[in-house]
Amino acid sequence: MNLILLGPPGAGKGTQAKRLEQRHNLIQLSTGDMLRAAVASGSEIGRKAKEVMDAGHLVPDELIIAMISDRIEQDDCAKGFILDGFPRTTRQAEALDAMLAEKGMKLHSVIEMKVNEDILVDRIIGRYICATCGAGYHDRYLRPKVAGVCDNCGGTEFRRRADDTEDTVRTRLAAYHTQTAPILPYYQGKGVLQAVDGMAGIDEVTDQIEQVLGAA
Ligand code: ADP
Ligand code: ADP
Ligand code: ZN
Repeated sequence: MNLILLGPPGAGKGTQAKRLEQRHNLIQLSTGDMLRAAVASGSEIGRKAKEVMDAGHLVPDELIIAMISDRIEQDDCAKGFILDGFPRTTRQAEALDAMLAEKGMKLHSVIEMKVNEDILVDRIIGRYICATCGAGYHDRYLRPKVAGVCDNCGGTEFRRRADDTEDTVRTRLAAYHTQTAPILPYYQGKGVLQAVDGMAGIDEVTDQIEQVLGAA
């Protein structure tokens, strides 16, 4: 099963992708995580992407398309993947179709996470992850059971993203509206688009996604 989670920054894509990964034995492919790893390693891709990401703009299509094309060829993707943060432009969506066709892979479902714009800044400003295992948390909506200790791995160091600032979030939201939202009708036309209510609680959103996948 190959899925796309689509929605604005802060919609909950990463949170749900991690849950789907475990429940369905899929691989989460987050282009944001891949780019942040490239920035941290100081690779050529990382150097090209850093400033663009910090400003909240999208990195060039060619770079992202090449990155995903390489990634989905790897063996671990054969059991199925969840694309989180890709595609983000019509060109990326078209390139994805072409590479799936070429590799004989199929897209099972595109899940749109619908959220009201006014909560997104809040979700993003309060977001942090465990520095050891990457588990996601939020200052108010999802705290570790024991303060300062990761539920998942017991780690005690946490990290916030450089681009999770109010200013950058506004730019990222604008990029979503102008460049990413136009791919919704593209997938609707193909009959693979299904929406869930991303405003609901985290468990409820997971249940809705399970229903959508069961019915697809
Ligand atoms: P969020 O989950 O908050 O939407 P991501 O982690 O997906 O953010 O992306 C962080 C940044 O990485 C984006 O603002 C953009 O600069 C870059 N990026 C990630 N995925 C893509 C993509 N598919 N196309 C272009 N840029 C991307
Ligand atoms: P995205 O990957 O779409 O940018 P995240 O999954 O990182 O979004 O979620 C953004 C923040 O909001 C995280 O801190 C996460 O813990 C929190 N969050 C995710 N889903 C929900 C939800 N349904 N209700 C409340 N908070 C949520
Ligand atoms: Zn952890």
